[in-house]
Amino acid sequence: MAAVTAAQPRSSKTESYVDNKRKEDIRQANIKAARAVADAVRTSLGPKGMDKMISTANGEVIITNDGATILNKMEVLQPAAKMLVDLSKSQDSAAGDGTTTVVVIAGALLKQCLLLLTNGIHPTVISDSLHKASTKAVDVLTAMAVPLEISDRESLIKSASTSLNSKVVSQYSTLLAPLAVDSVLWVVDPAKPDMVDLRDIKIVKKLGGTVDDTELVKGLVFDKKASHAAGGPTRMENAKIAVIQFQISPPKTDIEQSIVVSDYTQMDRILKEERNYILGMIKKIKATGCNVLLIQKSILRDAVTDLSLHYLAKAKIMVIKDVEREDIEFITKTLNCLPIANIEHFRAEKLGHADLVEEVSLGDGKIVKVTGIKDMGRTTTVLIRGSNQLVIDEAERSLHDALCVVRCLVSKRFLIAGGGAPEIELSRQLGAWSKVLHGMEGYCVRSFAEALEVIPYTLAENAGLNRIAIVTELRNRHAQGEINAGINVRKGQITNILEENVVQPLLVSTSAITLATECVRMILKIDDIVNVRDSTMVSAAKYLLSSRILYGGFFLNFLFCLFVFFSKLCFLVNNETIHMQHAHLAIQALL
Ligand code: ADP
Ligand code: MG
Repeated sequence: MAAVTAAQPRSSKTESYVDNKRKEDIRQANIKAARAVADAVRTSLGPKGMDKMISTANGEVIITNDGATILNKMEVLQPAAKMLVDLSKSQDSAAGDGTTTVVVIAGALLKQCLLLLTNGIHPTVISDSLHKASTKAVDVLTAMAVPLEISDRESLIKSASTSLNSKVVSQYSTLLAPLAVDSVLWVVDPAKPDMVDLRDIKIVKKLGGTVDDTELVKGLVFDKKASHAAGGPTRMENAKIAVIQFQISPPKTDIEQSIVVSDYTQMDRILKEERNYILGMIKKIKATGCNVLLIQKSILRDAVTDLSLHYLAKAKIMVIKDVEREDIEFITKTLNCLPIANIEHFRAEKLGHADLVEEVSLGDGKIVKVTGIKDMGRTTTVLIRGSNQLVIDEAERSLHDALCVVRCLVSKRFLIAGGGAPEIELSRQLGAWSKVLHGMEGYCVRSFAEALEVIPYTLAENAGLNRIAIVTELRNRHAQGEINAGINVRKGQITNILEENVVQPLLVSTSAITLATECVRMILKIDDIVNVRDSTMVSAAKYLLSSRILYGGFFLNFLFCLFVFFSKLCFLVNNETIHMQHAHLAIQALL
C-alpha cells in the first residue's frame, strides 16, 4: 500500500503509515464482515423501515423490527462481526432504544475508516481522532437538547410514541405509549427519583383478543388458574394473602427408603397421621385469618396433594399453586408482605392484604388478578394481549423499548429531535470543526462527520424518498440555522421535527454515538487474529505416541510419521486453524 505524504511535513513522519499485506488483509476482512452485519439491519431503521422474519433452527419464527433482536438471533461467526452484535446489546442495556441506529452508525464509520486506511493514515491516528470527534459530538448533542420535566407527561408520551412508531405494533402506539409512561412513573421511587428498575414492571402475556386489549394492572396478574380441586373458592374479597415457600404435603424421608405396610391397621395409621399432619398445618394457617395462599413451585416433593387441597377448600382458602421462584420477590414487594418459609413462622403480620383476588376467564384460559392491594409496593403489571404469539412477542419487545425510553428520560432529563435532525446537525458542526484541526486529525474528523449522514440517508431511503434531494435540502436548512429540521417521513419532506412530536431521549443518541465509536476503534486496532491451537491435535499426537511405544509395529510407525508430516505441513503452509483440522481429519480417516 502506498503511503500518503501528509499535507504538513511536520506531522507526516508520525501519521503516514505503511502496512504489510497480512495486517491489511485482516483489518479489511474484519471491517467487511462487520459492515455486512450493519447492512443487514439497515433496512429496518426508522418508522418506514422493513421488518425481518427470523426462522430459528428449532422451527421458531420471529417477526421483529428491533435491531438487538435481529442481531441476537443471527448466528454470526466472524469475531469482528460478533462485536457489532455485542454493540447492539450494549446499546440495549445502556439505553434500550437505538439498537439499529448504533449498528448503522458503526457500519458507516467503518466504511470511512477503510477509506482513511487506504489513504495510508495510521489506525492509531484514526482511532484517536474518532474518540475526539465522538466527545465533541456528545457536547454538540447536549447543546441541542431540550430539558424536560418529569411531570411533563405529554412529552414523555411523545418520545415513547416515537420509539413505538417504528415497530410492527406501531398502530397501537396511542395505547402503548401512555401505558409505558404511566407504568414507569408509578415505579419511580420518590427517595431515588433518578432510578427506575424495570424489573418492577412485570409483563404478563396472554393469547387472545388484540393488542388493543392490553392493560395496565395496578396489582398482580398470574397467568394460571386458581386450584379448583374439591370446589375451592376462586374469588375472595378482603383477601389476606400468604406467600408460602413450604409444602402442604406429607413429609418425605431424607434418604431414599421404602416402608412396607403389611396390614390394614398400619395403613390406616399412616393415613391418619398424614391427615392430622396436614390438618394441623391448615388450622395454623386458618388461625391467622389467611384466605388466599400463593404456593411456590416445589421440586423436592409435591407442594400440595389432593388431600391438602381438599382441606384447604373446606377451610375456604383460595389456592394458587406453582408460583415461580423468581416471581416471589416481585410478588412480596407488590403485596408488601413477607414470604413464609416454614409453617412455624406463619404469622398474621406476614400477610398481604387486597380488596379482591379473583379468577377471570380470558381468551382460551384463565388468569388470577389481585387488585386493591393495601400499602402496595411501587410495582405494576402490564397484561399484553394479542391474536397470535408473534404479535404478542413483538408487542412485548416494543413495549420494552418504550419503557427504556421513558427510563432514559427519567434518569437524564433531556429530549432531542428525531428524524435525522441531530445527526445532520452533528455532521455540519463537526465538518466545520474539522477545518480548524491540523493534519490527519482534521481529515479523520471530517470522515466521522460524513459517516453520521448515514442516518438521514437511510431514513429517507427506507421511506422511499429521493435520498440525495432530501439530505441536500436537510443540510441546507440546517446551514440556515434550523437545527430541528428533520425528515418527516409521513409527508415526505423536511419540517421542524419537534413540532411533529418526533422526539427521543438525549441518552439514546449520545450512547449510540459513543458506543459505535468505541466499537469501531476496537475493530481498527486489531491487526491479527490469533487462533489457539486445536487441543485435539495434541491428544491425537499423545495417543499415537503411546500406542507406538506400547505396540510398536510398522503400521503405527507409519501413522506416526504421517501425523508428524501433516502437522509440519500445516505449520508451514499457514498458521491458521483450517489446515490443522484437515490434518486431524486425514488422520482420523486413516485410523
Ligand atoms: P432503533 O432500533 O435504532 O431505535 P428505529 O427503527 O426505532 O431504530 O428508528 C429510529 C430512528 O427513526 C431514529 O433516528 C428516529 O429519529 C427516527 N424516527 C422515528 N420516528 C420517526 C418519524 N415519525 N419521522 C422521522 N423519523 C423518525
Ligand atoms: Mg427505536
